Amino acid sequence: MKAAIVSEFGQPLTLEDRQAGEPDSGQVLVRTEASGLCHTDLHAAAGDWPVKPSPPFIPGHEVIGTVERAGADVTRVSEGDRVAIPWLGWACGECEYCTSGRENLCESQVNTGYGVDGGWAQYALGNASYIGVVPEGIDPFDAAPLTCAGVTTHKAVKMSGAQPSDLVAVFGVGGLGHLAVQYARIAGAQVVAVDLTDDKLRMAKELGASYVVNAREQDPAEEIQQLGGADACIGLAGSPKAFEQAYHSLRRGGTLVLVGLPAENELRIPIFETVLSGISIVGSIVGTRVDLKEVFELHAAGRTRVQHETRSLDDVNEAMRELEEGEVTARLVFDPAR
Ligand code: NAD
Ligand code: ZN
Ligand code: ZN
Repeated sequence: MKAAIVSEFGQPLTLEDRQAGEPDSGQVLVRTEASGLCHTDLHAAAGDWPVKPSPPFIPGHEVIGTVERAGADVTRVSEGDRVAIPWLGWACGECEYCTSGRENLCESQVNTGYGVDGGWAQYALGNASYIGVVPEGIDPFDAAPLTCAGVTTHKAVKMSGAQPSDLVAVFGVGGLGHLAVQYARIAGAQVVAVDLTDDKLRMAKELGASYVVNAREQDPAEEIQQLGGADACIGLAGSPKAFEQAYHSLRRGGTLVLVGLPAENELRIPIFETVLSGISIVGSIVGTRVDLKEVFELHAAGRTRVQHETRSLDDVNEAMRELEEGEVTARLVFDPAR
């Protein structure tokens, strides 16, 4: 099978002919139909984060395809079913986090395209208990971005506590953000979208944002405070500065949800004002199997729109450059058959 491989951090990926894996007990081998490019894949390939993957590895954790072969003891899905392999590739199922519906916090979790090979390849292995089942009628190229960008922002909006009368500010309306805007609208909130390019802000308006702020031209905190301040800010941009602006955009009692994972791993915020204003700061990491199921249900019901463009796996390095340089409107999805 054709696979895109990170052999060394910070170096171009190579396309190689690899043997597809054999599913162990509890696993499925998936023939990939669509495989998204998340900004996390750029961080993985650059070795940006404190906990690093071990090259060589295959990135990709928005993997949609059909079950080619099921290993022993797999009863949940059968050959031919369309499934999604998410970032949360496996969790122990037994710890306090797993047994309380918070498997996204499991300390033994294995992450797709990071701790094990992912889906920038013609086949990928998934764990039958942790894959999503893609409902009939959802296009695989829509399903791919929903598998990380969707589930992560659906969860982040839940963590923000957004209510119908709230103002929610989304900082960074790229792959994750264009869906965050929609989930915040579904929660009933009014949305302010913040980004650096007018193209993305135009898309955010089309997807339901009431206000937009171009952070290159205006100070987002000043603009959002003029609207009364945000009840919640969701930080999706890969820049600590955007998180600081988000913090200063909050009204009293507001919540800052940290989702983006900049290589620069520090955020400066004042203690005094945080205490006196009763600000909450929460981290939000992907979502659970239930969150993923809900994301697919919302999409099947026609309540979300996924903005994507397809690329051949042969163009993996060019696609990564496009995303790095902010040229991608929302999500790029690889078509391994192209
Ligand atoms: P993306 O590149 O598609 O989107 C990021 C957006 O932020 C872009 O539109 C960019 O123009 C904008 N941006 C950059 N700097 C900005 C600034 N200073 N102010 C406002 N906007 C700015 O990336 P993505 O795939 O949406 O991922 C975003 C981040 O979220 C990445 O760091 C990724 O690793 C992280 N992530 C976290 C989780 C999680 O579970 N917490 C899951 C997936 C991705
Ligand atoms: Zn666990
Ligand atoms: Zn992701």
